[in-house]
Amino acid sequence: MKEKIVLKGLKKSYADFSVALSFNVYEGEFLSLLGPSGSGKTTTLHLIAGFVTPDSGSIIKDGADITNFPPEKRNIGIVFQDYALFPYLNVFSNIAFGLKVKGRTNAEIRDLVENIARTLEIEKLLRKSPDKLSGGEKQRVALARAMIVKPDVLLMDEPLASLDAKIRERLREDLKSFHKKFGITIIYVTHDQTEAMYLSERIVLLNQGRVEQIGNAIDIYYHPQTEFVRDFVGKINHVKLKGRDVFVRPEDIGISKMKGDIKGRIKEIFYLGGVSEVRVETESDAITVVKLTKEIIDLKEGEEVYLNFGEERKENFK
Ligand code: ADP
Ligand code: MG
Repeated sequence: MKEKIVLKGLKKSYADFSVALSFNVYEGEFLSLLGPSGSGKTTTLHLIAGFVTPDSGSIIKDGADITNFPPEKRNIGIVFQDYALFPYLNVFSNIAFGLKVKGRTNAEIRDLVENIARTLEIEKLLRKSPDKLSGGEKQRVALARAMIVKPDVLLMDEPLASLDAKIRERLREDLKSFHKKFGITIIYVTHDQTEAMYLSERIVLLNQGRVEQIGNAIDIYYHPQTEFVRDFVGKINHVKLKGRDVFVRPEDIGISKMKGDIKGRIKEIFYLGGVSEVRVETESDAITVVKLTKEIIDLKEGEEVYLNFGEERKENFK
């Protein structure tokens, strides 16, 4: 696989925060930077885009060192969380902006704008002003504006974070098929692990400006290499079992009225639709179990149950 972007010992220090990173992004890859708020995701993206100058290290794109290139010479597009559309320009002119800067003719611009507007299903919005658009529509316009100049790499900073759950899911699906269709290299920033796992081929997990782990959804969920990753990605139970410390995912615990490894009492049940969360208190621990709702529909709060810990899954978290 060809490397599209390589970050080599990239460092940037602020008064009480610093990033120090090395990782690569393959051509055509959808890569997410995942981490809690304040872990350095935006700083990393701004270093790649050229808005922030590193103290040391280098940024390679297609084999060439672009560390000292100004943003407009990098051919890297960016979509911001708050859309950053130009309020005084209509949708057409917002999308056309980058082409105008590049000096394309009006006829070319019209063709290209109409074309990308069709692809993103926003052709009906072209004459509207940005302040008349919903959040989801604004984000599509921002995506069109970034994509129309055919960047080599597209950076996205929590683009779905301020949208309603339903629209967020819809745009997430669209983004995935959009990436499949265009095959562009995308570096996507999010603090939402589900979003990162849904969208990405690989995830770079950041914590305090450092890379904790790089891997796909299965790697980081089932083979976390650090305590931080184990606790950040999904829920994990820390259970004392026959004198041993065991870490086990909520869905890997069996629950039965008849028999099992340890006895407990159901404290609460949260019905979440297709799956439900059962909180069980044992003598020593508070344990969360996740099951298909239809599998636990006969359980009640206050009831005594047994929990079962299969052998195969536990191994992953020792
Ligand atoms: P994230 O996007 O993961 O939430 P950021 O990269 O925005 O994290 O910020 C990481 C840390 O860097 C924060 O503590 C923030 O205050 C600090 N930081 C970011 N930009 C600057 C700056 N220009 N000056 C000083 N500190 C900054
Ligand atoms: Mg950020």
